[in-house]
This record gives sequence, C-alpha cells and structure tokens, in this order.
Amino acid sequence: MPEATICAVATPPGRGGIGVIRLSGPDTAEIAEAVAGPLPPAREAAWRRFRGPDGETLDEGLLLWFPGPRSFTGEDVAEFQGHGGPIVMDRLLQRLLRLGAILAGPGEFSQRAFLNGRMDLTRAEAIADLIEAGSEAAARAAVRSLQGEFARTVDQLIDRLTALRVHLEAGIDFAEEPLEGLALDELSRQIEALDADLAETRRRASQGQQLQEGLTLVIAGRPNAGKSSLLNALAGRDAAIVTELAGTTRDVLHAHLHIDGMPLRVLDTAGLRDGGDLVEQEGVRRARQAMADADRILLVVEDSADRDPGVQDEMESIRRELPADIPVTPVINKIDLTRRPAGSDGGVVAVSALTGAGLETLRSHIRGRLDLSDGEAVFIARRRHLQSLDRAEVSLTEARTAAAEGMGEELVAESLRQAQEHLGEISGAVTTEDLLGKIFATFCIGK
Ligand code: GDP
Ligand code: ZN
Repeated sequence: MPEATICAVATPPGRGGIGVIRLSGPDTAEIAEAVAGPLPPAREAAWRRFRGPDGETLDEGLLLWFPGPRSFTGEDVAEFQGHGGPIVMDRLLQRLLRLGAILAGPGEFSQRAFLNGRMDLTRAEAIADLIEAGSEAAARAAVRSLQGEFARTVDQLIDRLTALRVHLEAGIDFAEEPLEGLALDELSRQIEALDADLAETRRRASQGQQLQEGLTLVIAGRPNAGKSSLLNALAGRDAAIVTELAGTTRDVLHAHLHIDGMPLRVLDTAGLRDGGDLVEQEGVRRARQAMADADRILLVVEDSADRDPGVQDEMESIRRELPADIPVTPVINKIDLTRRPAGSDGGVVAVSALTGAGLETLRSHIRGRLDLSDGEAVFIARRRHLQSLDRAEVSLTEARTAAAEGMGEELVAESLRQAQEHLGEISGAVTTEDLLGKIFATFCIGK
C-alpha cells in the first residue's frame, strides 16, 4: 500500500543532550539527502550539517541510514541525531514537513514495524512498556519481552497445541474406530502437561503486569479516620479531596506513586459505614469492590485518647468487614493528637498524616510487604495478555474434561482450537483492526 513518509522526534521532550528525529517511508532517502547531503553507507552513521531551505545550518550531528527492509519499521528509515534542544528539534522537524513528510501518529513507527512483519505484538507493546517502565525490575522485564521471550514461550504452547490438534483431527478424519482408551489417556496426559505450562506462563505474565502497572493498595477505614489525608501525604500532593465532613469521599480516588522505584496504585475509598444517602451507599459499594481487588489494604484508625482498648477494638471490628484473603497493614493515624510514639509497633504502624511523623516507616513497611520477586523469568504483560491466557486456560480445561469423560474427540478438538485461538491473540497472529488501533494508540509519538 502506498504509505506517507512519517517523521517525529523520538527522544523525550525537553533539553536532552542529543535529540533524535526519525523519518520512515518511501521518500526517506530523497528528504534526508535534501537536508543532510549524501546518505552514509547502510546502517552507518556519518557527521552531517542539517540544512534549511536556503542552505543555512539548522543543526549538525549524525545521520543514520537504514534502507528497508532491514530497519526498525521495515521501510527506508533515516535518523537525525542533533543537539536536542526543543527549538532546534522543532526547526528540523518543520523542514522535514516542508519536504513532504507528515507527522507520525502515536505508535505509528511500531505499527508499521508490526504490519511489515518486523515484530510481533508482544514486542511492540514491550517497547511502549519500556518507555514507561516504573521501576528497574519492570524495565528488565520489558527488555525480556522485547527480546521475544514471552512471544517464544506462547509460540511454543501454540506449537504443542497444533501438534495435539493434528493428531486428534487426523484421528477423527481417518480412523474408523474412535480413539482407543490408551490413546485417549495419552491425550489427556498431554493436555494436562500443556495446562500446567500455561498456568506457569500465566503466573510469570501476571507478575510482570503487576510490575508494570503497580500493585494496588487500598486505604480503608471509618469516615474521618484520615484516609484521604494519608493518601495525600504518601503522594506528596493534593491527589484526593480532604474534608472535615464525614462521608465526603464518595467515589474511589486513586493516585500513582513510587516507593523506592516501585510503582503503586493507591486507592482512597469512601468511609466504611452503613446508612447515609444513596450516593454514599454507592461509594461504600465501590469501596468494597476496590478492596476485593487489592494487593494489600491499609486499615486506618484514628488514635483516641483512651488509647489501646478503643483503638484495638475498632481495628478488630473493621477487620471483620474486610475481605479475609487480602493482607492488611493496620495504621493508627493522628498520633499528633495523642502523642503516641511514631513508627512500627507489633506490625501496627503509628503515623500522623498531618505532621508526617511515621510516614517513612509506613513507606518502608509497604515496600517490604509488597516486594515482588524480581525473578529471572517475569514477562512484562498487559491485561490483554492475561485475559487471553485466562481464556486459553478455560478452553484447555474444557478439553481436559471432554477427554477425561470420553465426551468425544470432536469436542476435545474444538476446545483445543479455541485455546489456540486465544493464545494467537497475544502475538497478534489472530487480531482485528480494532484491537490493533487500540494497542498502538497507547504508544507515544515517535515510537
Ligand atoms: P477520611 O474521611 O478518612 O478520608 O479523613 P480525611 O483525610 O478527610 O480527614 C478527616 C479530618 O481529619 C480532616 O479534618 C483532617 O485534616 C484531619 N486529619 C487527618 N489526618 C490527621 C492527623 O494526622 N492529625 C490531625 N490532627 N488531624 C488529621
Ligand atoms: Zn477521605
């Protein structure tokens, strides 16, 4: 298809040491020569002056030339590495536009790379994730996905599924008799093994997804305990509404923050209490929903003058309202009013959201408790990947049941086909225009 030649600044905005402008498409060579003179040999850099329409020097730097198809996008690509200031970059970009290039849309370079078969979807997404990686561990996992490990693992699962299907469908088509007992046993055994490996892939992908998006921490407690104030204090800015009226945080507010490079999503929930008007009840319902999905709950209780009996009783009573399977960190807030010592005591962290006392202890407590294994084998994955892995697992389980209960090869074969289709969604082997558009739209311009 005839494509426009696209260009964009590929380095982050601001005053970098160098700035890179990337140009890709059929007119790349012509445009690059008009700006920077003769092209260097393929895949080599050469020092060039980048010139304006009247021959004046706009910038100088390195010109790199990657003739297609051995380039990032699979098309002819040129890169101008200049001095990075926003004004310089902008003038150079304007020049390319005058020469007929158009500005690239978000993720358009990666989309072209995908469409030209230069990368599969998991790698395209890994590039976006690497750019936005919230922590070192997340960046390492993104590199791993970029190198295609995740895609390879999924491809291997698909290959094994294909082998099973070929066996099975050949059996269905050619055998007079249905599969014999022994063959069916072997089939069940193989599906089971495949299921176990799929579950392991799911586990690794889900850890990667948490690294990428951050674990979710929910702040829960009675109205006025200081939940919103605590969120603000942790986030270091006004991320939530703090108010003196009980029950005003009606919706679930959230903030993204980093603790020692670990990304966290912190949700502030409406106070847990019964009654109130309809809007407030809706807030409580959402609070419960958020808590059910949390990785950890910070249970905040207001310190009281009668000290331990009162505070402990209240903690116990709230704890009983929380989902039983989510770990809880009890926090006593407003210690500035009671002069309780700040810090951790028997797993309970005493803080003042107002003065900041005890907040460092709370941070390190959160960090320690939420630590993810930075194992070798984490894949950066997205919700989309997890959903596909989940669906594949459901189909595999159906196949297992069908095989185990002798429900007929056709049924087993159909479930295996569905499992394969779901895995195919991950690498983009099976994909729709719509899904593609959504994925690439999340990229930054210039990527
Ligand atoms: P929420 O309903 O649990 O979200 O509570 P808020 O964060 O809205 O706080 C309720 C009230 O308690 C506000 O007036 C806050 O200023 C106050 N407050 C919150 N934390 C502290 C604290 O550590 N010390 C003191 N003295 N007041 C606090
Ligand atoms: Zn609040």
